[in-house]
Amino acid sequence: MAQQHLCETWSRADIQALFDMPFNDLLFKAQSIHRSHFNPNEVQVSTLLSIKTGACPEDCKYCPQSARYDTGLEKEQLMEVQKVLEQAERAKHTGASRFCMGAAWRNPKERDMPKIVAMIQGVRELGLETCMTLGMLSETQAAALAEAGLDYYNHNLDTSPEYYGDIITTRTYKDRLDTLQNVRSAGMKVCSGGIVGMGEEQSDRIGLLQQLANMPVPPESVPINQLVKVEGTPLDHLDDLDPFEFVRCIAVARILMPKSHVRLSAGRETMSDELQALCFFAGANSIFYGEKLLTTANPVAEADLKLFARLGLTPEQRKPAKPLFYDATARESQSSATV
Ligand code: SF4
Repeated sequence: MAQQHLCETWSRADIQALFDMPFNDLLFKAQSIHRSHFNPNEVQVSTLLSIKTGACPEDCKYCPQSARYDTGLEKEQLMEVQKVLEQAERAKHTGASRFCMGAAWRNPKERDMPKIVAMIQGVRELGLETCMTLGMLSETQAAALAEAGLDYYNHNLDTSPEYYGDIITTRTYKDRLDTLQNVRSAGMKVCSGGIVGMGEEQSDRIGLLQQLANMPVPPESVPINQLVKVEGTPLDHLDDLDPFEFVRCIAVARILMPKSHVRLSAGRETMSDELQALCFFAGANSIFYGEKLLTTANPVAEADLKLFARLGLTPEQRKPAKPLFYDATARESQSSATV
């Protein structure tokens, strides 16, 4: 799907004005925009598998996979390709259209690339869309993943540029933007969002959404995560974010990025059915589905199916895959559209 505007930019004041709207007005606006771009009763469903767990050298304060925090998480090496494909097959049978594979790395090592490429090719052959999150990517690595047929690459901005240093010190905001640019230049779709409820101010939530919405091409997929407070991480003691503020974030993301899939992501397991329904009304149209969301619990697939049935929602069907070849022309034209 072609993405929205290449010229409209959002100021912080514009975005603040959206956050300040009366709740009902904001939801009405978001839902009106949502239904002019999407079937409002369809939700895209992705499954996420941790293909390499724990022992990450980075210091993201929310993350139980960082080697710096004692969270009791069991470390696991990079999974065997066959095991990943078995999980992908199961995900397909439970209704997922996209299979996301996540590794707790600062960045992938060259020695891991053949296995990674084999995973992408195998999952693709099962007829699923492919997504990976492996940390920072060089231009060469991004090109190799694109050549293997990777559809999406996930790399979150996490929060505003101003608050970022309070959360992560081992990589910069610019490192993240560079990886996203490498992903775009290689011709892959971008999945990028952030986490709310990390003790940030509303102005930081505004700053995060501004960064995402003002990209030359906004991310096709925008996960809005609610902090999952894992004991042993530095953020485990924080107060919960007001659920209505969370819904406002979803609604504002929908308004700023009308053609993107806005994903209700981590944190869903602690949300009531009613809160999730409100998020769908505010424009969320993608979820992770299955028992595990990397290393934290996620509502089991059956509960999701029941909720879908109660709300009259159906899983969005997968769009036909792009041909598996490397299109240098497309790559160049994408590249020129990025900063
Ligand atoms: S969020 Fe990713 S990069 Fe940060 S510590 Fe966790 S696994 Fe590592």
